[in-house]
Amino acid sequence: MSLSDPVKPHRICVCVRKRPLNKKELAKKEIDVVTIPGNGALLLHEPKQKVDLTKYLENQTFHFDYSFDEDATNDLVYRFSAKPLVKTIFEGGMATCFAYGQTGSGKTHTMGGDFSGKSQNSSKGIYALAAQDVFTLLRQKRYADIDLCPYVTFFEIYNGKVFDLLNKKAKLRVLEDEKQQVNVVGLQEVPVSSVDDVIKMMEVGSACRTSGQTFANASSSRSHAVLQVILRRRNFLHGKFSLVDLAGNERGTDVSSNDRHTIVETAEINRSLLALKECIRSLGQNSEHIPFRMSKLTQVLRDSFIGENSRTCMIAMISPGMNSCEYTLNTLRYESVLPAF
Ligand code: ADP
Ligand code: MG
Repeated sequence: MSLSDPVKPHRICVCVRKRPLNKKELAKKEIDVVTIPGNGALLLHEPKQKVDLTKYLENQTFHFDYSFDEDATNDLVYRFSAKPLVKTIFEGGMATCFAYGQTGSGKTHTMGGDFSGKSQNSSKGIYALAAQDVFTLLRQKRYADIDLCPYVTFFEIYNGKVFDLLNKKAKLRVLEDEKQQVNVVGLQEVPVSSVDDVIKMMEVGSACRTSGQTFANASSSRSHAVLQVILRRRNFLHGKFSLVDLAGNERGTDVSSNDRHTIVETAEINRSLLALKECIRSLGQNSEHIPFRMSKLTQVLRDSFIGENSRTCMIAMISPGMNSCEYTLNTLRYESVLPAF
């Protein structure tokens, strides 16, 4: 895969990452319906049927800042998406990186990486790679001189409620003051002094996220996880990098479910993803009005959508199999309306 070096970061960067077909899909001989020809383009070959029942593939082309194929490593994806944003938080700005897509498409793999040791190519994800770059910059003289102190927070938003993953899932209140500043009351901000410290917090938080759940991934896929690297200067906020592993965007068959709990859960996820789309669009248009109150997710990330020096990158993950086509199309359409500039 050939890519030219990332240019100066735009305020909004929109990328897509296709994962390889997994063992289960290969065993079922599923067809790969996604191709990445280069230059940010992505082709979806959607299976259709004519009136006479003959089957054919309808091709649709989409364009993004970057499209990554199944051979792309976490390192490569990071280099073109979140990495250019690290400097922003040293310059007193807010950076945000979202992983978007259906459950099983690779969001957690991209953000958290794979430390299980089960996989042959165990690799760091964006959390650890970004932390690495933050510590490298902290050691540079021009930043070492201004006395910046790094902290980490890690929380989950489930059904419109915030839970602290670094404090036994304590439920937290979100308050907005008269200046519209949003505070997550009591959120643990843990001081960190090395990449290993960040990885440790990431592991503590991830374990907390899935604890007490029989179907770990099934449940954690219904919540948004937010890991933040915060820089403070004499206790005042200097910059913040929010790395967000979003809830699965599948509307799924859940919509027709009779289970009230599932219906409420799905509605809440749809609402927050819609709110996110609207907020990113407002950021792109330099709009005065940012509809951040539309959901808890956008409310706690309010800082990320305002200010001259806010930068966002959105990475959409897609599963390549024919059976995921409907969800993939859904994801690509969501991404396509985001302003990339
Ligand atoms: P999500 O968080 O979107 O539900 P996961 O990150 O848990 O999805 O990925 C589902 C499975 O697919 C995991 O076993 C993960 O290791 C694997 N996977 C995802 N993306 C890739 C990739 N790019 N290369 C190899 N394996 C991947
Ligand atoms: Mg996940």
